Amino acid sequence: MESTVATVKNSLLALPPGLHRRRFAARGVGFDAWIWRGGDGPVLLVNGATHGDEYEGPTLLRAWAETWRPKNLRGTVVTVPVLNEAAFFAGQRCHPADGGNLARAFPGSARGGVTARLAHLFDTHLLAQATHYVDLHSAGAAYELLPWTGYITHPAPATDRTQRAMAACFAEFWCWAGPFLPGRTLSAAHARGIPAIYVECRGAGGVAPADLENLDLGLRRVLHRLGLLAGPGPGRPLAAQRFRLTRDADEAHLQIHHPAPADGLFTPTVEVGDRIRRGQAVGQVAELGSAAVHRVGAERGGRVVMLRRQRSVRRGDALCTLAPV
Ligand SMILES: [Zn+2]
Repeated sequence: MESTVATVKNSLLALPPGLHRRRFAARGVGFDAWIWRGGDGPVLLVNGATHGDEYEGPTLLRAWAETWRPKNLRGTVVTVPVLNEAAFFAGQRCHPADGGNLARAFPGSARGGVTARLAHLFDTHLLAQATHYVDLHSAGAAYELLPWTGYITHPAPATDRTQRAMAACFAEFWCWAGPFLPGRTLSAAHARGIPAIYVECRGAGGVAPADLENLDLGLRRVLHRLGLLAGPGPGRPLAAQRFRLTRDADEAHLQIHHPAPADGLFTPTVEVGDRIRRGQAVGQVAELGSAAVHRVGAERGGRVVMLRRQRSVRRGDALCTLAPV
């Protein structure tokens, strides 16, 4: 295992077989990558903490770095347990220096602010070398969600089929596929024609053991499905996955649904996983400086797939997301 700083592009395939750690850094931004080099084959890239307050991905990938020693690996696996280090250590979603949301900054720029530079570093040094990509997210500290996996539908049928197959490996989660949204890690992968999926775990500021187990199982199945490891993969035969394909780009845009009507104290009246009717209350926001209480009604019928857990809200903060699943 090595621990030298590397800033050279196109370096992955030049590494000898075995496990390597590399730090990728430039102009004040950087991250640590763990690289398992096997023989020729696919290059699977997986990262956690694109947002700094999402801990399931970092927890799983850090455990893999300690313990995962595959035999007969065909291809290369690259993991970055914590992509957004500054946000991670600040315990917040966005970068503390410029407030940037890394999942809106791709493909980034070498001459931009810290968030744009971090996106650019990851895009040009790792994503550019990947043949397949998985981005591990969660609801973060302020929200809780019903775990799902998803992807941006791709016009190339082979790429789209591969994405669907990768997502199906996370059979314990439901699947949400939809149109292109700019700025995401997946947007950059999409532009490069790299099959890419994301996974959303429960969040709520912690790591649910069941989520971690299902995340691990799903990723291991991806390794087998892509041919990085031989055989059918771990676990039971894949169950049929609850699947939602939408053409509405706003449907899976989590930050726009049920915005808080005022600053104040949010009290939800539903739980994650509940099925509710259009118009039914999802909660209320009580203003601090007056006796005003704002009822928040459901914009549509559906299942509660994400819900605000942090009770303090600012006007415009998303309170709840519903999906027809
Ligand atoms: Zn996220």
